Amino acid sequence: MFCSSHRGPAGTCRKKKEARLYVCGITPYDATHLGHAATYVAFDVLQRLWLDAGIEVTYVQNTTDVDDPLLERAAATGVDWRELATSQIDLFRSDMEHLRVLPPAHYIGAVESIPEVVEAVTALVDSGCAYTLDNGDVYYRVSSEVEPPFGSVSHLTRAEMLPVFAERGGDPETPGKEDPLDPLLWRAARPGEPEWDGGRLGPGRPGWHIECAVIAQRYAGLPLTVQGGGSDLAFPHHEMGAAHAESLTGRPFAEAYMHVGMVGYEGEKMSKSKGNLVIVSRLVEQGADPMAIRAVLLSHHYRSDWMYVDGLLEDATARLEAWRAAAHAGTDKEEAEELVAELRAVLADDLDTPAALDLLDNWADESDDGDSDPEGTRLVIDAVDALLGIDLR
Ligand SMILES: [Zn+2]
Repeated sequence: MFCSSHRGPAGTCRKKKEARLYVCGITPYDATHLGHAATYVAFDVLQRLWLDAGIEVTYVQNTTDVDDPLLERAAATGVDWRELATSQIDLFRSDMEHLRVLPPAHYIGAVESIPEVVEAVTALVDSGCAYTLDNGDVYYRVSSEVEPPFGSVSHLTRAEMLPVFAERGGDPETPGKEDPLDPLLWRAARPGEPEWDGGRLGPGRPGWHIECAVIAQRYAGLPLTVQGGGSDLAFPHHEMGAAHAESLTGRPFAEAYMHVGMVGYEGEKMSKSKGNLVIVSRLVEQGADPMAIRAVLLSHHYRSDWMYVDGLLEDATARLEAWRAAAHAGTDKEEAEELVAELRAVLADDLDTPAALDLLDNWADESDDGDSDPEGTRLVIDAVDALLGIDLR
């Protein structure tokens, strides 16, 4: 599946194995909360597992550094939108470093991609997949024929799509649209909003989905091995991005879509309006070991929705201490090799990180310093680092 030249039975692949991973990045208007962290740590484990298997990974992530939520927050707080974006991108990067998330090979902003977006939107208009309203806004026709067909990413029916579209940034009510589901590709300039030269499109700024379609195509290459993000991105964002790219290239956007579950707090959805966001940088400031935060995230399977409760961090800190004590006591080489093989096996089974942490618990329970050897100890520490991104040194 991950080999570009592989067409025959397993083992017949001769060319280098490669994977193209595109994960939707943040809109930088607020600090990283645990839900974001869960997403980027899940894809970090995927990248680590691929690298461990000798697969060459091209990992691309965008940052939506111009969009409505960012401009609204900037206006509400009286901060220049560019300054807000820069400061939040810096904070996000520092959070990712704390959590030992390997950086993507390409971290690309929407603003720097505007010339490519203009080119793509113009091509969509020229091919009849997009149309322009009287006010200059350009919309994509969801009725455009694409392969696989529209709806294949989210598996939602049209009736299910409509309310979700309205909830997640879509504008079904906009007058003049051919279909309420048609998404914005290019927003014509408005007074007081940033704008860029759009050539024949006129001045304006990009829509959200086209940004990812264009960045993924340019920096990762299509088809992506995996297009990823939080489960709230499946529709409309990934559905629309895939359709845009498929209209532009005539080929499937991605071989697989991986969506990470949502994280709530103490029984409620985490949201800015409820004021219950668990912010990574705040936990670190309060003295939490970032490796314990990472262990909390890894103790839940990436596909499940789960609740963060305050005791989880203490539990993870205790587990981490036990693993570190075991690593310090040392381990027999044969046991170490067995543990590493088991870790690889459970992670290869749909990234079962909770099972991987259970294996570490068992190993720590059974370890005693009577039969350790330095080679075994090093093997475990290196594997836990390489596969799970947890530093036991
Ligand atoms: Zn995206």
